[in-house]
Amino acid sequence: MSNKPMPLATPISAPFWNGLKEGRVQLQQCNSCQQWTFYPRRHCSHCLSHDLSWKEVSGAGTLYTFTVARIPTLPEFAGAEPQILAVVELEQGVRMNTTLVGLAPDDIRVGMAVKPVRARVSEDGTVLLRYTGADVDLVERDEVPKAPPAPAADAGPARTRIDVKDIDALKALVSDQFSDWSNQILVDQALIDDFARLSGDDYWIHTDPERARKEGPFGGTIAHGALVQVLMSRMQVPLSFEVTGFTNMVNYGSERLRFPSPVPAGSLLHSRVRVKSVEVLPRGTQMIMEFNIHVVGQDRPAVINDLVILYM
Ligand SMILES: [Zn+2]
Repeated sequence: MSNKPMPLATPISAPFWNGLKEGRVQLQQCNSCQQWTFYPRRHCSHCLSHDLSWKEVSGAGTLYTFTVARIPTLPEFAGAEPQILAVVELEQGVRMNTTLVGLAPDDIRVGMAVKPVRARVSEDGTVLLRYTGADVDLVERDEVPKAPPAPAADAGPARTRIDVKDIDALKALVSDQFSDWSNQILVDQALIDDFARLSGDDYWIHTDPERARKEGPFGGTIAHGALVQVLMSRMQVPLSFEVTGFTNMVNYGSERLRFPSPVPAGSLLHSRVRVKSVEVLPRGTQMIMEFNIHVVGQDRPAVINDLVILYM
């Protein structure tokens, strides 16, 4: 699964998508006028005949036009910049929208010879047709989202040790500035399904990719807010300090818990934290830490959690 929009094959377009999965580029050719048609259609785009046949082609062509997208064209494409959006004209005369890969923007010229690259984008074998220069050594690539490796246990900066009784030093940690980002975590459909079983929340917007793609507002399934919230435990935020000298440390719950934006299945998450307040209360020294979890590349947090920690 990916959080990017995926092709929805129809009875008319299925031969094109299935061909890509099997390594073939196929176009429709008209049996009446011999011209080629793309995108897949019920009729010839030249003579309107319904007598079309699917034929395998090399996919080779020339670059008709392109543009370099330096900001995400959709939130789901964050992190892939620059995206080089292109229109390619195949030898058969049809034009395709595509993305150029394996080329630096400065090496791209309108009219240059290009060839197809099969990009596997989903665990279910879905392949998208990308393009590259005719002389680039690239025929296929794996774009299925992968879980990044977990950081080493001793990763991160050296921490300043602060004794819990040194209230001035604790209060000096309060800041509007967030820490650096944590390691990244992949939220895939398997994890969402596991959480649906565990929690009993198996609403289709989380668990039915097909229905969520067709009927849901997000173009696919999304993770439960509660799942994203608990994934905080898998993210190691590089804190600059470590509190010492307490007898007991308690997670006292949350002052504020919000889910401001959805997390599509296939998203990478990371988090950061700031110390929001430090107070000495009868029950102990209370630190509120604001944890923000974001989909990688997105400004708006997916989870805001003002976690209350009590040192006793
Ligand atoms: Zn025709």
